[in-house]
Formats: sequence, C-alpha cells, structure tokens
Amino acid sequence: MEPIAIKIDGEILDLQTAKEKNIDLDSAKKIYFENSKEALEVIRHSTAHLMAQAIKELYKDAKFFVGPVVEEGFYYDFKVDEKISEDDLKRIEKKMAEIAKRKLDIQRYEISKEEAIEKFKNDELKQEVLKHIPDDRVSIYKQGDFEDLCRGPHVPNTKYLKFFKLTKVAGAYLGGDESKEMLTRIYGIAFADKKALKDYITMIEEAKKRDHRKLGNELELFMFSEEVGGGLPIWLPKGARLRSKLESLLFKAHRKRGYEPVRGPEILKSDLWKKSGHYQNYKENMYFTTVEEQEYGIKPMNCLGHIMVYKSKKRSYKELPLKFFEYGVVHRHEKSGVLHGLLRVREFTQDDAHIFCMPNQIKDIVLEVLDFVDDIMKSFDFTYEMEISTKPQKSIGSDEIWEKATNALKEALTENGQQFGIDEGGGAFYGPKIDIKITDAIGRKWQCGTIQVDFNLPERFELSFINENNESEQPVMIHRAILGSFERFIGIMIEHFAGEFPFFIAPTQVIFIPIAKTHKDYANKLREKLLDMGVDSEIYDKNESLNKRVRIAEKQKVPLIAIIGDKEIEQKTLAIRDRREKIQYNIDEKNFIEKIKEKLSEVRF
Ligand SMILES: [Zn+2]
Ligand SMILES: [Zn+2]
Repeated sequence: MEPIAIKIDGEILDLQTAKEKNIDLDSAKKIYFENSKEALEVIRHSTAHLMAQAIKELYKDAKFFVGPVVEEGFYYDFKVDEKISEDDLKRIEKKMAEIAKRKLDIQRYEISKEEAIEKFKNDELKQEVLKHIPDDRVSIYKQGDFEDLCRGPHVPNTKYLKFFKLTKVAGAYLGGDESKEMLTRIYGIAFADKKALKDYITMIEEAKKRDHRKLGNELELFMFSEEVGGGLPIWLPKGARLRSKLESLLFKAHRKRGYEPVRGPEILKSDLWKKSGHYQNYKENMYFTTVEEQEYGIKPMNCLGHIMVYKSKKRSYKELPLKFFEYGVVHRHEKSGVLHGLLRVREFTQDDAHIFCMPNQIKDIVLEVLDFVDDIMKSFDFTYEMEISTKPQKSIGSDEIWEKATNALKEALTENGQQFGIDEGGGAFYGPKIDIKITDAIGRKWQCGTIQVDFNLPERFELSFINENNESEQPVMIHRAILGSFERFIGIMIEHFAGEFPFFIAPTQVIFIPIAKTHKDYANKLREKLLDMGVDSEIYDKNESLNKRVRIAEKQKVPLIAIIGDKEIEQKTLAIRDRREKIQYNIDEKNFIEKIKEKLSEVRF
C-alpha cells in the first residue's frame, strides 16, 4: 500500500513536498490511508478543499477564506452572493463526489508572496489570508482547474476522498472578528472507510435525538427567554427538583469527606480583583457594577471569597488541610455566538472547593479527590479519563515547587490506577492541573471537572500558617470542581441518559395512576409516604383512559409507574412498570417501600 503522506520531525508532509525536499521516505513515518489521527487530518483537510472546489463550480462568485481541520472534522469559511442553507448541502456533497471521481492529482507549487498578492488581486478574502502569512514564499495547491492558497498537506489525488458528509452550515465573522463581515461556514466530516463514516452519522443522529435543549423542553426542565437575556437559564419546577436532588446528595458527600461549606459575596471590590490578577488577565470575561462610586466586579470565580475565609484567623499546620466548598454562582461574559443550551451559559453554579494545604499534602489530597470523582462518575455510569498539564513557558513559582507539585499529581494518578495523558506545557501560569474528561453513552467526550494546584494566589494574598517549627509558611491552594458546573453537568447528563435519569435524581420518580376516582385516596397516602423519604411522585387521575395516562407517564420518562385498582387496594399491592429495568410486576406496599430505598441507595457518593 502506498502512503498518502509522511511525518518527519513532528510535521506532516505530503508526498510531493517530501520528494521535493529530497526526504528519504524510509527515514520518515509513513501515513497510510486509514482512520489514524494523522491520516484523518490530511484526509479531512483535503476534503475541505474538495468542498471548496465543488462550491466554486456551483457558485461562480465564491471566494474562500480558511478551511482548517477541527476537533470534529473540518470547515471552510467563504462567501457567495446567495444564501446557503442546510438544503444546499446535499447538492454540494453530490458535486464533491463527482469531482472526486475525476481522480484529479493534487499538485503543489510555490510562488513569492508578491506574486500571490497579484494572483489573488480580485479576492479580498485571500488578501486577508495573505496579510497573516509571515513567509516570503507561499504554496498553492492545484486540483484540475481549481487552485487554492494553502500550506497543506494534502492527499495525492482526489480519488481518496470518498467517505465524507457535510454536517452543518453556520455564519462566522471574518477571522472571528465581530466588527468584520459575516462569512458562510460549512462543517463536514471525512473518514478513510465507509463503516467509520456510517458509525459517525449514526452517532450524530442519536445525539440529535438526545439534544438536551430539545429534551429539556419536552421534559419541562429548563428554559431560556429572550426577555431575560441569552445564556441565563431559568429552571422550571421539574428541572429544579432534579438539580436540588443532585445538590443535596453532593452536599452530604462533601460533608462526609471533611469539606466545610462557606459562602462568599456575589460582588467584590475591583481592587481585590486587581490584587488577584483577574482584573489584568480576565477582565473581558467579567461584569462590573458601581456602588457609591466604587467599582465592583461580579465574581467569575469563587476563589477570593474562600481566601477571605482562610484569612479570617491565624492558621496552624495542625488545621491543614482546610477544605472549603460552596455552590458558587459565577457570571462570565460569553459571546452570544458561543452560547449553547446549558453547556455554555453566562451564569452558572460551580461545585467549587478550595483546599489549603502544605506542599507535602498535595498527593494525598489529590488521591482523595480522585476517589471522590470515581464515586460520582460511577453513580452516573460515566467513564472518564484524566490529563495532566505541566509547566508552561510563562509561569510563576520556582522550578523546584513546580516539579514537586507535578510529580505529586502524577504519583496520585498512578497510585489511583488511572491511565492519564500529559499536556506538556499546557498548565496555567500559576500551577499544574488535572483535567477530567467524561465519556457519555454515545462515546462523546466532555471536559468537566479540574484539579488545579495554585502557588500564585497564596502569594498575592500573603496567606500563611504557623508550621511545626513555629515559623510562618505559605500554604498551597488547590482549586477543585468535580461536576464543573451544575448547568453543564446536567446538560451532559440529559444527553447521556437521553432523559432517562437514574431513580435517585429523576425529577418525578413515581407516577401513580388510580384506575377510578375511588382509588385516589390510596395513591395520596402513598404519595405522602414517599415525600417523607424525599421521593417525588405525581398522581395522574385525569379523565382519560388508563392507556393514555400510561402513555403520558412513559413520555415523561418517569422511572416507576404504579397502577392502582380495586384488586390492588383489596390486596394492598401495586402493579408496577419499572421503565429503567424494563419489567412489570406486582408488589405489596411494604416491599414497594423497600424497593424504593434500594433504588435510592444506587448513588455511591
Ligand atoms: Zn489546504
Ligand atoms: Zn478557584
């Protein structure tokens, strides 16, 4: 099998470039036509060009900006006079397939930047691209009569581009700059074989069915309102029920693990944000307000409140580690374009904790947090992976303490039996961190919680404790969130469970359906009993057929449906449909209550 590209010194090159540079193919890593990360990068980028060529053939006036490979496939930004909608994607796809079948060689040649400026003199988008290229020479790729400015690498021939799909059309500002014109952006995906493409399409369709915005609306969990403003979720009764169950379970779990609840204010003087460095480094993401001519920042993070708690009295090594936690409401400015249901909002609540400790306690603390993470993720059937980010070029703190902290994180992960990736140089300037990525039921990965070691804030706020030798020493601060935020985590959970929540957090856990009016008292009695146990139930006694009422309950994805009739009252039993276990059975009242207790105990944190 012929390779489609090679990789040398970390750079992927197409075969033509390799040949022109006299690179001995045997000395380089060969990239074959398969679904490897490197091959997909080349295939997807080449498919972006194929798409551009197809668009050019369909829309003569089309002009193209850039077409990079992104996490999920590729896109190309361009402009045409007509408005392009989802319906046009099929037509473009068809044209792409037709061009691919022409088996055009993809050829590269170089010209000077001046020549390129001249060559594309009637194309203002290409001029914009050229402005950002520092090199004197640029490369042009040619396939048939279509030419595009590009760095490559590309597959050698269009015949390789068979398994692709255009997924979405959107608007995008030129270079992401809101003051510039709006271009059209088409997203697509490509693979090296039919099966991988088919699996991907199935996953996308499944993801659409599970879309938390759609389910959130159908299940009456939350809403957004233009009147209120974008990115500001409004929790409806059922969503608030779910959320408060999650909150109270997690509250107890924190208490059991030695965390102390604390609470900081919503707005803090700007001087304090200057002291912390947020004002200098994070200002664009913050909101501000003025009270009696004094500027205040609305908190985008909860750290400063917790620092104040730490500083409220003299601390001794005997108290450490100190673990403070808060369901901290934060506000961050996000551009309207990136807002996305509960996943990207402007106001959210973090399950935030700050642990103040001695440097030699970092490892044990991280081990404890990892154990906490595991309990939570297992309760929700999430698998997850971890990644450590190490010292970036710009950083504060001595090399020695960085190394110590990074090793502590690595040791904790290893001891915990976790496989983990390393993002070299990807840490925050103030310390190394661990990111927790969860995988949902349909294989998508989501970044949620993080554990961050911080040397910066303790220094800026002159935190101290008295050590064993009666000297003053600086503690380390660990920022830690496990869910990340309730909004995001619940959004992910809705999609993960497709709305079929585990019993212990389901907004409505049981629905009673009395067959006749005379059966309602019994249902009411049971409902009160359940409420005492913290279990939410509803009674469906509408004047509708039994079947219809069962159907409504099913649609609400309620875990248990209990039907009550004469026979049930006489025998003190219930006819149960267990939608999670997909079984039906009759059960007496006492065992029903036992069953509920059993289901509540499925939570492991
Ligand atoms: Zn290209
Ligand atoms: Zn923090």
